[in-house]
Amino acid sequence: MPWAHGETVLYRYGREGRTRFARVGRVLTDDDAGLALWIAPGSPQIESVLADGRGLRELPLAERFDAPRVRRETTWRGSGIVQFAPAAGEWSVWWFFAEDGGFEGWYVNLEAPQVRWERGIDSSDRALDVWISPDRVAHWKDEDEFAFLTGRPGRWTPSQADAIRATGRELIDVAAAGAFPFDGTWTHYRPDPAWGPVALPSDWDRPHLAGA
Ligand code: MG
Repeated sequence: MPWAHGETVLYRYGREGRTRFARVGRVLTDDDAGLALWIAPGSPQIESVLADGRGLRELPLAERFDAPRVRRETTWRGSGIVQFAPAAGEWSVWWFFAEDGGFEGWYVNLEAPQVRWERGIDSSDRALDVWISPDRVAHWKDEDEFAFLTGRPGRWTPSQADAIRATGRELIDVAAAGAFPFDGTWTHYRPDPAWGPVALPSDWDRPHLAGA
């Protein structure tokens, strides 16, 4: 059953059964191509942060992923985003906008195949990302974290890593060709002004479903 336009959906990232990050969005479209959500500014979200309050990037790579973390409820900062997850594919694309609504670029998040449940979608982040500017110039992001985490317990294997990178390359090619989702769809998107605020569902912490 596809979700209806305007319905709220919980999008969770986690692994080994536990949610690390979660956000709430409203459905723009849900069809054979995939699911598009609007994540409004100020929406409630769950974030995982270092227990001692330091920023993740302050730690060297070797310590960054083993340091104790806590989950906390915060809100989505900055302008809203459109997030699109394909019906089949190990990625999602996020549209970023400036304060004035101008389109800033696409963030390609490489992630595990999405698992859908009644009111949500679960996936697992794979560290490696691609930023694609409005003129479709691509930049890899977080290659150091990706290399560090490859082969670690609960993460992706070295052979998966090759496939993950290949998926990123395919999307860079799709963007260079100006094909969907990089064809201008949603680059001038404005949310329905009638939509009210969204809430974090009380069962946001139910067991997380996606694999590495
Ligand atoms: Mg990522």
